[in-house]
Amino acid sequence: MHSITKTFKNKGLKLTPQRIAVYEYLLGTREHPSAELIYSALIEKFPTMSLATVYKSLKTLCKVDLVQELNLGEGNFRYDAVMQEHAHFQCNHCNVVFDMMHVPTHMVMEAVSKNQNFVIESSKLYFYGTCTDCQGKSS
Ligand SMILES: [Zn+2]
Ligand SMILES: [Zn+2]
Repeated sequence: MHSITKTFKNKGLKLTPQRIAVYEYLLGTREHPSAELIYSALIEKFPTMSLATVYKSLKTLCKVDLVQELNLGEGNFRYDAVMQEHAHFQCNHCNVVFDMMHVPTHMVMEAVSKNQNFVIESSKLYFYGTCTDCQGKSS
C-alpha cells in the first residue's frame, strides 16, 4: 500500500483534505469511476469542492504515480488506484470497467520490445465487449 503522505512530502506537494479524499475514494473502489462520479460521491462531505478541484487532484495523483488515468476513448476518462500492471475490459452495454489481473501484459510488452526494438515507457491494454451480466440480457 502506498503512503500518500510520504509520496506528497517527497515531491514537495501540498496534501489537501480534498486530495486525500479523492485518493481514498479510489482506493475503496474497483469501479474505475470518472471524475464526475468521484465529485458526486464526495460533494456531501466537501460541499465547497468543485469538479475542477477533483480534476486537479486527479492530475496530481497521476503525476506522482498513485493513480492511473484510463482513456477509454471519446472523452471517457476513468481513474484507478491499482498501479500494478493490468489490463481493462469495458462492457459496451453497461459501461462498467473491469480489471483483468490475469492477462499477461508483460508478454505483450516483451513481444513489442523484441520484435520492434522499441523501448516501452508505458502501456495500457484495453478490451471491449459484453460482460457476463449483459450476456444474459436480451438487447
Ligand atoms: Zn455489462
Ligand atoms: Zn484497473
